[in-house]
Amino acid sequence: MTDWLHTPPEGGWHTLLPPKALTLLDSDQVAGLSPETVERRREQVGANVLEETKGRSSWRILLDQFTNIMLLMLIAVAIISGIIALRADEVPKDAIAIFAIVILNGVLGYFQESRAEKALAALKQMASPIVRVVRGGKVVEVPSQELVPGDILLLEAGMQVAADGLLLESSNLQVRESALTGEAQAVSKQAAEALPAETSVGDRTNLVFQGTEVVYGRGKVLITQTGMQTELGRIAAMLQAVESEPTPLQVRMDQLGNTLVTGSLILVALVVFGGVLRAGWSAFEDLLEVSLSMAVAVVPEGLPAVITVTLAIGTQRMVRRNALIRRLPAVETLGSVTTICSDKTGTLTQNKMVVQAAQTASANYRITGDGYAPEGQFTDADQGAIAAPAQPELVQLLFCGLLCNDAILQKEQGEWVILGDPTEGALVVLAGKGGLNQQQLLHQFERVSEWAFSSERKRMSVAVRSPTTSQNLPDELTATPYWLLAKGSPELLLERCQSLQRQRDVVPLDDAIRQQILRQNESMAAQGLRVLGLACKPLQSAPDDHAEADIVEQEMVWLGLVGMMDAPRPEAKEAVRLCLQAGIRPMMITGDHQLTAQAIAADMGIAAPGADVLTGQALEAMAQTDLRQAVQQVQVYARVSPEHKLRIVQALQAEHQIVAMTGDGVNDAPALKQADIGIAMGITGTDVSKEASDMVLLDDNFATIVAAGEEGRVVYNNIRRFVKYILGSNIGEVLTIAASPILLPILDVPLTPLQILWMNLVTDGFPALALAVEPAEPDVMKRPPHDPKESIFARGLGAYMIRIGLVFSVISISLMYWAYFAAQDPNVPGDPERWKTMVFTTLCIAQMGHAIAVRSDTQMTYEMSPVSNPFVLAAVVITTVLQMMLIYVEPLRNFFGTHLLNPTELLICFGFSTLMFVWVEGEKLVRKLRSPRQ
Ligand code: ATP
Repeated sequence: MTDWLHTPPEGGWHTLLPPKALTLLDSDQVAGLSPETVERRREQVGANVLEETKGRSSWRILLDQFTNIMLLMLIAVAIISGIIALRADEVPKDAIAIFAIVILNGVLGYFQESRAEKALAALKQMASPIVRVVRGGKVVEVPSQELVPGDILLLEAGMQVAADGLLLESSNLQVRESALTGEAQAVSKQAAEALPAETSVGDRTNLVFQGTEVVYGRGKVLITQTGMQTELGRIAAMLQAVESEPTPLQVRMDQLGNTLVTGSLILVALVVFGGVLRAGWSAFEDLLEVSLSMAVAVVPEGLPAVITVTLAIGTQRMVRRNALIRRLPAVETLGSVTTICSDKTGTLTQNKMVVQAAQTASANYRITGDGYAPEGQFTDADQGAIAAPAQPELVQLLFCGLLCNDAILQKEQGEWVILGDPTEGALVVLAGKGGLNQQQLLHQFERVSEWAFSSERKRMSVAVRSPTTSQNLPDELTATPYWLLAKGSPELLLERCQSLQRQRDVVPLDDAIRQQILRQNESMAAQGLRVLGLACKPLQSAPDDHAEADIVEQEMVWLGLVGMMDAPRPEAKEAVRLCLQAGIRPMMITGDHQLTAQAIAADMGIAAPGADVLTGQALEAMAQTDLRQAVQQVQVYARVSPEHKLRIVQALQAEHQIVAMTGDGVNDAPALKQADIGIAMGITGTDVSKEASDMVLLDDNFATIVAAGEEGRVVYNNIRRFVKYILGSNIGEVLTIAASPILLPILDVPLTPLQILWMNLVTDGFPALALAVEPAEPDVMKRPPHDPKESIFARGLGAYMIRIGLVFSVISISLMYWAYFAAQDPNVPGDPERWKTMVFTTLCIAQMGHAIAVRSDTQMTYEMSPVSNPFVLAAVVITTVLQMMLIYVEPLRNFFGTHLLNPTELLICFGFSTLMFVWVEGEKLVRKLRSPRQ
């Protein structure tokens, strides 16, 4: 027995008929495996997971860290400074420190990158599909990893097949096997005869394979192989590794690196050239030292690490708000979204459908009752409360809705729940209210074929066989050997009807009645109800299972309309308001009727009452250029199909919009891929849509998209914040170093490379990390989205950096000038070199003031609560203490080459440093006074 779990039978599973395969795997088509057997088998064969092929090797990731131009420059600096030190018979302290930093940076980068890859893989795992299996006689939903050979798996359109298996039953099953065969066209699969052993994988039409996608129909499958034993597992090399594309920001940072390195090389050349002109070639070596310091100063060594951490924190914050990021660049792009195209059902509304109205040829019913409990009353405007079983028209309608249906109503822990589509669930509940028993009828009327629902068809139909004896059934239900039962969009279904059920009779449908039905449909839709039409056709024999739906669904008998309420999500209304405030345009794209869409859009605040709605039909007839015009005006799109969604995204993008688009169906994948942010539904979404998305909404909620957008903005703002914080100081350092040989009578550098590294990593790094977790500013959702292509220097950031760099250098250079002469004064005791330590200390402490002030662009520091980001305060205190230790703890002093300062000198450093804080606060004050509304 165990053998079959690991090795396929001779010739392969496709050579077996279902009964034989079931016996080999000791399973049962109806009851499935028992929970104990499942447990045992999982121990024997392991989890149903594929070992992902490795992305880059660890070595590659490590090596990649050292290809960064700034690190290369540091390595060059280390080598030169090492040679200089060795020639002077000194310990090459700077060279060692720089090498240490380079290696540390590389190793840190390595850990962060591999952690990011692992974290992304784990996130993907969280989105791993849930499958439906029959176990212990019941249909249960389990994570796909828990499948074992022998399980009975149920497949339907939109699912990704989770393991290999043999088909036991199928109905119009079509599967896209491109993951395996590269063939994009879907292939038909059926439970059929055993196939010859030599049949190639692509032709094994009685098997389904892991990783392939069900695009249509349904199937029941006996799982034969799982995990790495599957066809896909065997060709694991074809598997996609976890993607780790550089984010747009990383690209921008590389550009920034290039600019900085080029700029600093030019400056170095100028300083050396100018110095040699001034002091002759003998000064070359000293000038070289100045240049080396400048080269170290310009590199923001701590920046890459801070960025990686920020993005990681961003994705975690988003997960906490139910948005699962599948591709890292989405974190930033989310902040620049200008249009959100959302589905209606389930995203803007609660997807808890309750039928409130029904209309047949002779009556209008209102139905009471809450939730999914099949308890409620039918009332008729004329007759008041009525007993449904006494109304033949109504019985037919309920019967059709109940059997043309795949949802199951069951009681779980005392509560009624729906397994399946809520639209269908509402019809099961309705039938229950009318006294029809789902279990009993499903048993009596066996389904013989079906033509599934799809968003394109907007309808579904089934054929059922009537029982030969009519125990306890109304006569009208057993009057024919077979029934075709259909439900769907009323307009489409009515076109396919020829007659109408009136009481017990079938009467022809004339134009006047058709118009009346359409008017009734519109009046229900205008109340915001989701309206479905129902129709049937008596059949003498079972229809051909392979017959085209369009041929079968003809000449039907119209039964009536049902209208169901799907209340808007209250939090989505609030989110729509936030969107509008944040310059983001919400749009509704739905398969539902235009009037339903219009009513709900108006209720949600997406469009004004009575605003234009563009229907799929109108869209179909439009040229893309006209659509580009239309998308600028119209907020609501109704009766659209998935391919229309793609055209809408393209039109919006052509108008330079950054589009987030939701989707749940198998055919939404192209639109999701096209959108700047493709968003799949975590609960109701198909596996295929999730695979195509950048982000998954764990709660299917529109409000989550807006929350993620807000987090995206916060991440981007924080990145900009610490970039300006770090680079302002780098520029200040470089200018100070460059100024010393020009201003001072001697050729000397105030800062050693070691001290510069200390500043760039510790005194800049800690506060920058703290700034990375800065919470949202109050107005973050009141500003328009930023342009995703904007350069890192956009919106005044470049100017700010230069301005702050200048302020830094003015402060430190004036201090340097004064301190140099004070330290040389023979009347004042102390180390004549201590002016350098004063420059070093002033630069560090000034950065602390900068960190506190730079937390907000608009709010003055006294307006911000210090505890809203306690990390900044903590970082400032810790860094200041560390800086003091460098001066006052002897071993550290020796190592870092600092000099003792007396209290007055220290106070002077602090005094000069405060100017930085005062300057940044002053800038904010000026801005505030200029535009007091901020
Ligand atoms: P959204 O795209 O906003 O989620 P939707 O759920 O209304 O909107 P679809 O699911 O594509 O869009 O449904 C389109 C239409 O198809 C509905 O208005 C309804 O008339 C019909 N319909 C929906 N579900 C079913 C179903 N299970 N069986 C038959 N017809 C259905």
